[in-house]
Amino acid sequence: MVVITLQRDKCIGCNYCVELAPRQFQMSKKDGKAVLLHSKDKKGFHTIKIFDDFIFDDCDKAAKACPVKIINVKNV
Ligand code: SF4
Repeated sequence: MVVITLQRDKCIGCNYCVELAPRQFQMSKKDGKAVLLHSKDKKGFHTIKIFDDFIFDDCDKAAKACPVKIINVKNV
């Protein structure tokens, strides 16, 4: 299972995560920040659990590319 977390408030809207993991991230037209698709918000931390290990590589690349390091990806 892959657990992805996005600390959305700190997003600077660079779009890297959308380019690297378009199945999981989209930019919001409302505030220009990244949206972690289908995630749940808990005090600013948006989290999703996915039973698809193939998503890990894309999201891990996005996490490493994020300039403000607000994406966390774990394979548990
Ligand atoms: S890579 Fe990081 S800062 Fe850039 S849009 Fe995605 S979450 Fe925001």
